Amino acid sequence: MTSAILVLNAGSSSIKFLLFAERAGGLEPRIRGQIEGIKTAPHFVARDHEGRILAEKTWEKGARLDHDGAVEHIAGFLRDASGGLELRAVGHRVVHGGLEFTQPVRLDAQVLAKLEKFVPLAPLHQPHNLAPVRMLLARQPNLAQVACFDTAFHATNPDVARRFAIPAELHDAGVRRYGFHGLSYEFIASALRDLDARAAGGKTVVFHLGNGSSMCAIAAGRSVASTMGFTAVEGLPMGTRTGSIDPGVLLYLMDQRGMDARALEKLLYKQSGLLGMSGISSDMRDLLDSREPRAKVAVDVYVYRIGRELGSLAAALGGLDAVVFTGGIGENSAAIRARICRDAAWLGLALDEKANAARGPRISTPSSRVAAWVIPTNEELMIARHTARLMAPEVAGA
Ligand code: ADP
Repeated sequence: MTSAILVLNAGSSSIKFLLFAERAGGLEPRIRGQIEGIKTAPHFVARDHEGRILAEKTWEKGARLDHDGAVEHIAGFLRDASGGLELRAVGHRVVHGGLEFTQPVRLDAQVLAKLEKFVPLAPLHQPHNLAPVRMLLARQPNLAQVACFDTAFHATNPDVARRFAIPAELHDAGVRRYGFHGLSYEFIASALRDLDARAAGGKTVVFHLGNGSSMCAIAAGRSVASTMGFTAVEGLPMGTRTGSIDPGVLLYLMDQRGMDARALEKLLYKQSGLLGMSGISSDMRDLLDSREPRAKVAVDVYVYRIGRELGSLAAALGGLDAVVFTGGIGENSAAIRARICRDAAWLGLALDEKANAARGPRISTPSSRVAAWVIPTNEELMIARHTARLMAPEVAGA
């Protein structure tokens, strides 16, 4: 039997999974899939490593599958479909590790209880991330589980990058900047070592541009600053999130429009960003295809804010050797990459238009002082690597 690691990434309406076989040469992706629309119109699909559909199921309209039901369905499917593989551990993506968890950790009831305390710090993600953990602990207590955190990679940020200018007592209580998308940045930092040793040992800014968008300054492989902070709403405008906004706006809306915390949460996370500005869509493709002036405004603001953050992160690094594009927009939109790179000419970045159209991986000219790369992210592989490492006998016994 070959041992296997299952990676689960549970969000509010979907659970994604990826089963890796542990081979001598490394982790081999075997089966990937997801259940989407858990609470509205559940749909399950699983594919093999070449993208061929292995199984698919659509529940009746109006059917409500909860997270437990979704995990049960995935587990049942994998029991039947993963012949020859023996599940050794499950690795979970968990958005918030708080102050305590700056490394991946083996999960048990005590650790789970601590992670549940961070729900108020990431109300839209943390409860869903933890739902499968709780269920598997109860139903399969002997199955090893590991949590990998989106915050952990940023634990190396210096104190100045982590502080808000608020009373120290609040900082000590955990009201500070944590940063997110850390599993993606950690993967990119490791992939960059193979592509560009100079940049990997130097100063790099990574653009993780997807529905959730953020940027990270990495010095010699370690995160030193990022655009997301206490929550995943700070920084860049996103699909439906505001990004940074004058906090005075929120006080104004509370006073003048009678908005309460829930209404502001909806505004900050669901009704703003590309969707709010354009009034059309949160999907970058729709906006790039649209002729509506408001779609153009939304894209312009997105690109403009990325350019300003790039200046800020280059200042935090004290220079810049390379930039890396990743995430759904960063990996797929040559037009957005081109605009960002052209705006960064003042930093010494010269775009190779042809290479950019061909998706790189290197999209800067040979003489460009700052290199630019496109690297597809792989958070699942990062989680599987951490999980396998934590399960190694010498670590497990430690
Ligand atoms: P998430 O943050 O949910 O993981 P993704 O990283 O999958 O999101 O990114 C989703 C975004 O990527 C969407 O806005 C989508 O429009 C955008 N995207 C995907 N393909 C393209 C493309 N070819 N051109 C422009 N945007 C794209």
